[in-house]
Amino acid sequence: MPELADGETARVQGSAAKPYELKNVGGVYSCSCPAWRNQSAGIERRTCKHLRAYRGAEAVGLRAEPAAAPARRFVEPKSGRYWEVAVRGDDVVLRSGRKDGPAQEKTKTFADAAAAQKHAERLLAEKTAEGWREE
Ligand SMILES: [Zn+2]
Repeated sequence: MPELADGETARVQGSAAKPYELKNVGGVYSCSCPAWRNQSAGIERRTCKHLRAYRGAEAVGLRAEPAAAPARRFVEPKSGRYWEVAVRGDDVVLRSGRKDGPAQEKTKTFADAAAAQKHAERLLAEKTAEGWREE
């Protein structure tokens, strides 16, 4: 969780002309803004919008998803129908339809990315066995 090392500081621009200083001292985060200083709670329990924004943004960055794999597209030569499969994290997204027609999209969610990948691979093998060709 901590985004500042012990003893490290960071500056954020608040509403005042001078940036506020965020600090981590022994695991206690502080901010130089009045909202933080004027809180009655003990210093280890205080927070402010600057700390929330700073630490929240860092946490989101750590959870960033890897780039989604491109969809794989198959066509059935006889009918001209197409079928696409893509794994997006824990989801398997399927799109299918007739050439030049509207696509139908279905999403199935799995317990984790590995399970989603396994399901997609099984579907790919099925389509290939049925004579669909990958484009
Ligand atoms: Zn603050």
